[in-house]
Amino acid sequence: MKMKEKERGSEKMEAIVSLCKRRGFVFPSSEIYGGLGSTWDYGPYGTILKQNVKAAWWKTNVQERDDMVGLDAAILMHPDVWVASGHVKSFADPLVDCKECKQRFRADDLETEVCPECGGELTEARMFNLMFKTFMGPVEDNAAVVFIRPETAQGIFVNFKNVLNTSRKKPPFGIAQIGKAFRNEITPGKFTFRTREFEQMEIEYFTPPDEAEKWFDYWYKERLDWYKRCGMKEENIRLRRHDKDELAHYAADCYDVEYNFPFGWAELEGIANRTDYDLRCHQVSSGKDIAFFDEANNTRYLPYIIEPSAGADRATLAFLIDAYDEDEAPDEKGVMEKRVVLRFAKKLAPIKAAVLPLFKKAPLAELAHKIHADIRPHYMSEYDQTGSIGKRYRRQDEIGTPYCITIDYQSLEDNQVTIRDRDSMKQDRIPIDEILPYLKEKLASPCE
Ligand code: ATP
Repeated sequence: MKMKEKERGSEKMEAIVSLCKRRGFVFPSSEIYGGLGSTWDYGPYGTILKQNVKAAWWKTNVQERDDMVGLDAAILMHPDVWVASGHVKSFADPLVDCKECKQRFRADDLETEVCPECGGELTEARMFNLMFKTFMGPVEDNAAVVFIRPETAQGIFVNFKNVLNTSRKKPPFGIAQIGKAFRNEITPGKFTFRTREFEQMEIEYFTPPDEAEKWFDYWYKERLDWYKRCGMKEENIRLRRHDKDELAHYAADCYDVEYNFPFGWAELEGIANRTDYDLRCHQVSSGKDIAFFDEANNTRYLPYIIEPSAGADRATLAFLIDAYDEDEAPDEKGVMEKRVVLRFAKKLAPIKAAVLPLFKKAPLAELAHKIHADIRPHYMSEYDQTGSIGKRYRRQDEIGTPYCITIDYQSLEDNQVTIRDRDSMKQDRIPIDEILPYLKEKLASPCE
């Protein structure tokens, strides 16, 4: 990245982090105690935004498909799971320390052989396992050690047979899961891009071995397309195939979906062909037969797995960055002023409509409350009566609300309101009993 681009990138990142704090999307965790490194809490709007991202993912991948089912496995699993999966032995990053300033870095992230902070000499790299450990039960000894899962995938693999026996699905079919994962990352940072506690949205798609390539091709294209269908700009997202020497030991092939973050292109999601590696490891390690018996062909086999593995927090951050825009809008007196607007796809916007009475007093406020009461069972909405109407529009633009409904004195006479569109700032005057059908039509659009 060139210097100028880098500066612009970090300015944009700062603007987003500050907007997130100011408007209640994301707060530093335990802030009154000085914060805890790289952990973040979602505030009122961030919570809904992330929920909307997860709901959009779930709808596409479970609700709307015949070949997918959901799962919600426990975070704590039998310690042997992580031995079988290879995590105990090799889920590790190379760690180096600076002998001068004592900072720690991931050796594979460094572009130089000296400390990037102070230029000091670095130690030899040593492998550092990223799994968090804790103790189960009242005794804190080695026998009681359990791991806090570093990925949700293993919960799916070990439940493969349970799902097979109960869901009447057969390969090709998939299991989808959303849940927390924990990694003791050496160099977390870049806001919510890399944290030690995060949420994953993972699919394990089980296929007959000879169909694996076909499904791999299907899934990397489908996953790229999903981000675009959720409104992500075409020019900010791309696929990158892994070089052979970059592939994880279990993967036959892998694509990353990458997003053009202000700090450069980086992984949003990985789509890997994991072959039958995982099921084979668990079959050998547990001693249980978890193969699929294909009655139609009278054969028994371990399915291959195609894994699209995404991060809910990373996706939420990318959608926020992609939506961030600055333009100009008229103030009270018609003078143009800068406005910050989050142009979320409508299905992701935390608040879909805001009800803004021009005056606080009854009977206008009564009418506005009634309108709000009619909207809220259907859509996340807000009632805001404080400040000038211009300020209220700006507040809603900043959190990405697609529609603002203004109620004025004329509304009492003609039973009509004004609906303002976030992006075009165009205003429509419509009858009060048309508000819900209007919102339904506008908000239903799948790409917006
Ligand atoms: P990276 O190379 O960035 O460390 P990874 O290749 O180890 O990521 P995977 O193990 O493939 O990541 O995890 C799947 C997805 O989970 C990632 O694409 C990312 O969206 C998310 N993810 C992984 N680690 C983190 C983290 N520390 N913080 C936030 N999200 C994460």
